[in-house]
Amino acid sequence: MAHVISDECVSCGTCVSECPVDAISEGDGKYVIDADACVDCGSCEAACPTGAISAE
Ligand code: SF4
Repeated sequence: MAHVISDECVSCGTCVSECPVDAISEGDGKYVIDADACVDCGSCEAACPTGAISAE
């Protein structure tokens, strides 16, 4: 299981610093979460201004 970022992402980058395992990086048109690194803590979900992050 991992958290995922939807197309609602506006590439603001706010979530990046919230992740304790550095699983979030900038992708093509939106940010992406490395599913293998994510520990499902949910910290990024609360930080996202557009509600683009959710549990898979
Ligand atoms: Fe990182 Fe936690 Fe978000 Fe997973 S749920 S990407 S570990 S902040």
